[in-house]
Amino acid sequence: MITVKTFYLNELRECCYILSDETKECVIVDPGISSKSEQDRIVKYISSENLKPVKLLCTHGHFDHVMGNRFITDTYGIPTYIHPADKELLKVAKSTCLLFAIAIKEPSLETEDLKDGDTVTFGHSSLQVISTPGHTWGSVLFYNPEEKICLTGDTVFAGSCGRTDLPEGDNKAMCKSLTEIIAKKISPDTILYPGHGPDTTMEEELAHNPYLRKDVWMGFNLDL
Ligand SMILES: [Zn+2]
Ligand SMILES: [Zn+2]
Repeated sequence: MITVKTFYLNELRECCYILSDETKECVIVDPGISSKSEQDRIVKYISSENLKPVKLLCTHGHFDHVMGNRFITDTYGIPTYIHPADKELLKVAKSTCLLFAIAIKEPSLETEDLKDGDTVTFGHSSLQVISTPGHTWGSVLFYNPEEKICLTGDTVFAGSCGRTDLPEGDNKAMCKSLTEIIAKKISPDTILYPGHGPDTTMEEELAHNPYLRKDVWMGFNLDL
């Protein structure tokens, strides 16, 4: 049974998630840690729950999601998993943070590749990797169909989807990824945990999120 703990971090209120199970092993997803107090909140939770971090997972490489990567890998000595297409974003995370007057340590570039169809494991649990390029080239979802949870990064938000106007964004790829999410089988009773904002359910988004409504997409007559 997976427990999901949410932390809202940094000025962009990015969602960092810690997923653990009965073995006490855990994965840390998108540690956008920007301050000592945020470091302390994460460390305190992990130690108070007696958790053993085993992997750092990245839904994508944007600075607001990776600014605490180095702190996590230094503190726990665990490997970073990211889609190779977003490794370029890890390289510029430090300089991008400086634009927001945030000094960070460079994220480790020694990473393990995530690709579509992979399974990431911890304890007795596993997460399917679903590649969803669009917000960035290397955006992925982490999905567990048995426990009906899906971490959607900046691809799907409650009522919206991630922006595609940045240089690493691609609107057409996002359209394709969203239509695949609709078609794919993320069951309606799945809880979605986005990279920003509140959690939601697939059922709610299929009904009300304009970017996930099949009838809306069909009106565009996209050649996908
Ligand atoms: Zn992003
Ligand atoms: Zn973000």
